[in-house]
This record gives sequence, structure tokens and C-alpha cells, in this order.
Amino acid sequence: MACEVLRVVTPPDFTLDVVLYGLLVLGVFGVLWVYYDRRDRTLYDAQRRKITFHCIRCDHLYTETAGTETAPCPKCGHVNTRLKF
Ligand SMILES: [Zn+2]
Repeated sequence: MACEVLRVVTPPDFTLDVVLYGLLVLGVFGVLWVYYDRRDRTLYDAQRRKITFHCIRCDHLYTETAGTETAPCPKCGHVNTRLKF
């Protein structure tokens, strides 16, 4: 029903072009959205997996990958426990 009304109001070629163009634009935006969403999530995960350590001996701040409770300071070698907020 709706299709027949649309065919009467607008020429078939014009409708097809608009639909194809719309799909193309939607596809491009969809791909971009998925790409940026994935990239942001990867960045966020990488940051979240890092743990911040603070050296109590030389006051140096550094990060280590998650999974460790202690990490040696890259400056003085003092082993520090992870920061708790
Ligand atoms: Zn240190």
C-alpha cells in the first residue's frame, strides 16, 4: 500500500537513487562509528589495565600493567605497593 502511494508521488528512479544514497551514507557512518567505538574501547582498556605506583623513597610516579600488587621503581629500584584510592 505505502509502496504504491510512494511510486505515484515520486518517480521510481529518483526513489531508488535516494534509497541507495541513504544506505551508502548510513553504511559509511556505521563503519566510522564502529571503527571509532572500537578504537576508543581499546584505548580505554589499555589505560584501565595500567596501575599507578608512587615511590615512597624518591616521590616518582609510574605505571605498571595490571595484575601486580608490587612494582620496583624505575628510578631508584625501591619496591612499592600499588596506590589505593
Ligand atoms: Zn623511586
